[in-house]
Amino acid sequence: MNNKEKIARYQKLIEETPVKIQATNHWLTNLVCEISVAFFNKTFRHRASYNNRLKTTGGRYRLDNHHLEFNWLVLERLSATIFVQVILHELCHYHLHLMGKGYRHRDQDFKRLLKQTGGLRYVPNLRRDEEYPYLYQCLACEQKIHRFKKIDTKKYRCRCRGQLSLIDNRLK
Ligand SMILES: [Zn+2]
Ligand SMILES: [Zn+2]
Repeated sequence: MNNKEKIARYQKLIEETPVKIQATNHWLTNLVCEISVAFFNKTFRHRASYNNRLKTTGGRYRLDNHHLEFNWLVLERLSATIFVQVILHELCHYHLHLMGKGYRHRDQDFKRLLKQTGGLRYVPNLRRDEEYPYLYQCLACEQKIHRFKKIDTKKYRCRCRGQLSLIDNRLK
């Protein structure tokens, strides 16, 4: 299986997982462990967690304790594919740092491993809530969903399959 196929496989796996489970650090850590073995053939021995304080960054490798932190908004506002690629990016920092190799963005080792594994060079910018004109809420799970464009609530549903309702429109 090449990287593209592997990424597609994890994308599918994520999308088939209920949102409530996706939101747990336990599931996230398991996912990172699996991706680590599948793409790097190396074990991830630390923890992965969601950090709500990450605003426009998708993920972070903690040099001090080797744990990884991820931004839930990548899954919510971008896509499962991008989330897998953000995990790959952070795992490049992780494995290279632990191997004593060049783990920084500017290092050749980093650039090479990122290319080899199909990780994202830059995480697409996550905008702040205020920058999205439309705010929807799911009537079932109450999740708030920020959108740039108006969505057809008859066709498009929440990831929990609940009905969405427009609760704010800043363009009005
Ligand atoms: Zn980075
Ligand atoms: Zn929902």
